[in-house]
Amino acid sequence: MSRIPDLAAALERFLERVEPYDTAPDGAVAATVQLGRRRADLTDRTARALIAALDAYTDPDDRGRCASCGSRRLDTSLACQDCGRVGGIFGETLAARAEQIQSWGTSPTS
Ligand SMILES: [Zn+2]
Repeated sequence: MSRIPDLAAALERFLERVEPYDTAPDGAVAATVQLGRRRADLTDRTARALIAALDAYTDPDDRGRCASCGSRRLDTSLACQDCGRVGGIFGETLAARAEQIQSWGTSPTS
């Protein structure tokens, strides 16, 4: 397992990027973040900036949702780890082809 980067230092770097634009840096404390021994009092502006940053985050392993079951566990090939369906255009082509082949197998003429 890799070492976790210093979260408090990351918060510090974030606040350094945001604070110059805070129009009320000495305003009331809107929220407090405690990371280990590091405590950061956030103004309304910095709290909103942190929320926006967290909301904008997308996990590198996020490949969307399975069109079939809604699961978020898609592998790098967009195959659903829960129901097995393959997503995307390739997956749709595969599903259509499989459905066609299956219909041949159940046809009374085959
Ligand atoms: Zn699925």
